[in-house]
Amino acid sequence: MTSTQLPVRNPRTGRVDHVVQPPTAAELAELCAGLRRAQPAWAAAGIGHRVAVMRRWADAIEANAKAIGDAEMTDTGRSRVSHEVPYMVAASIRGWCDAAPGLLERARLHGVSSVSPTVSYDTEFDPYSLLGVISPWNHPFLLSTLDAVPALLAGCAVIIKPSEVTPRFVEPVAATIAEVPELAAVLRYVTGGPDTGRAIVEEVDALCFTGSVPTGRALAQTCARRFIPAFLELGGKDAAIVTASADLPQAAAAVLKGAVHNAGQVCFATERVYVDRSVHDAFIEELTGQARLLELNYPDVDRGHLGPFILARQADIVDDHLADALARGAVLQCGGPSETLDGGRYMRATVLTGVDHSMKIMCEETFGPVVPVQACHDVDEAVRLANDSEYGLSAAVIAGDEAEAAAIGRRLNAGAVSLMDTSLTITIMRDVEKTSYNSSGLGGSRMGPNGMLRFLRRKALLTRSGPVPDMDSLREDA
Ligand code: NAD
Repeated sequence: MTSTQLPVRNPRTGRVDHVVQPPTAAELAELCAGLRRAQPAWAAAGIGHRVAVMRRWADAIEANAKAIGDAEMTDTGRSRVSHEVPYMVAASIRGWCDAAPGLLERARLHGVSSVSPTVSYDTEFDPYSLLGVISPWNHPFLLSTLDAVPALLAGCAVIIKPSEVTPRFVEPVAATIAEVPELAAVLRYVTGGPDTGRAIVEEVDALCFTGSVPTGRALAQTCARRFIPAFLELGGKDAAIVTASADLPQAAAAVLKGAVHNAGQVCFATERVYVDRSVHDAFIEELTGQARLLELNYPDVDRGHLGPFILARQADIVDDHLADALARGAVLQCGGPSETLDGGRYMRATVLTGVDHSMKIMCEETFGPVVPVQACHDVDEAVRLANDSEYGLSAAVIAGDEAEAAAIGRRLNAGAVSLMDTSLTITIMRDVEKTSYNSSGLGGSRMGPNGMLRFLRRKALLTRSGPVPDMDSLREDA
């Protein structure tokens, strides 16, 4: 039996020019069984072998960077980032390869029991056999690898299902995997939509999901029923606080960059700004001045700052948030609703003032190049409003100096807080752990050492080195 093909829209033309062919249930089950069969040898081969194989994959990705970048450019409608991504992924693989042996060594605990000196302990690592990765459309290749790479190094087999919205990059990436047969035995991409995602969750031993809160919530319930771990990286509504003492041109640049990078289609985009009312007008003047200089990445894919909406429905959501805010009294300072150009949906950098928390644009994830700015009486009000959110992915504080920013940042309910800039999360991938707050995630940090160690079950080997205690130890009157 064949499965139903899914149409794929081109974000620059609006036309359907590609289809996704999901696997049938039988094909998926057979694929997962094959990965499971190969995984024990992969795990048993040791970290040195896995590092050597993964380094060859990094080389293959770089050698095929143009083909991967071209495919992702068609998927996302943006050129520069698409062509940088293969190099970012290759660098990330090599970084994990450098780090993995030391991480394993340091995580291995061995010694003598603190309560019984004749008992010693050692740690065995037992990777989950098959990890499922389900990823979104906003950074197709990069987000499909963030969890898969450390999981492979940990010794898991991995099946990846990227978004059906942006599937074209899979073919050239699969070709790089095929160049490394040892890896091809334990890593497979499959294309498909929600049905394929649901089927994968029924097959795997652990799930890494990156995507929206509603999908994450549904998948967490399936994982709970199956009693398997779910590592969820979900949506955000990042706040930025700008204090009265901040350097306003710098603050405006940081906020704007954080808000409109990839046309706002970033989970940790700056989506709301709280500024001290004493500098509000000057900040808005600076922000709108800088925003008006940004150009659409149209008609030439190699020029401009703001690419198209990858998903047409996302443009509708952003327009809806904007219309809701304006109907409730917000003031449009620059930019505006989305424009349709040759079938692609675009939006100019958009600044809104006079906003408050009755508006969708301050509470729901917008995922577009919009900067709504609310004036606050003082830092306490700014902190209260920043924390008034169902999300808690990351946040930012721009103040007069680093110490002032850090004092405010410590009060924010978010997993990563950028100080004196925005969106610094991407720079700490292997360095430091972070925990998402509220609905922005579940299951522990994908960053830092835990990014790899979470895929390993710890088995404690406990050895009695002296005689077994005699039965007197069981006497109630002993
Ligand atoms: P989505 O939840 O609609 O889809 C994500 C993936 O899940 C896709 O592969 C999709 O096919 C699959 N899927 C959808 N419904 C499913 C179901 N019922 N069962 C199984 N699989 C299903 O999200 P999206 O629109 O692709 O991505 C945008 C969202 O991702 C935003 O909320 C954004 O903030 C979030 N995101 C989070 C991070 C992070 O690291 N926290 C990074 C990037 C994007």
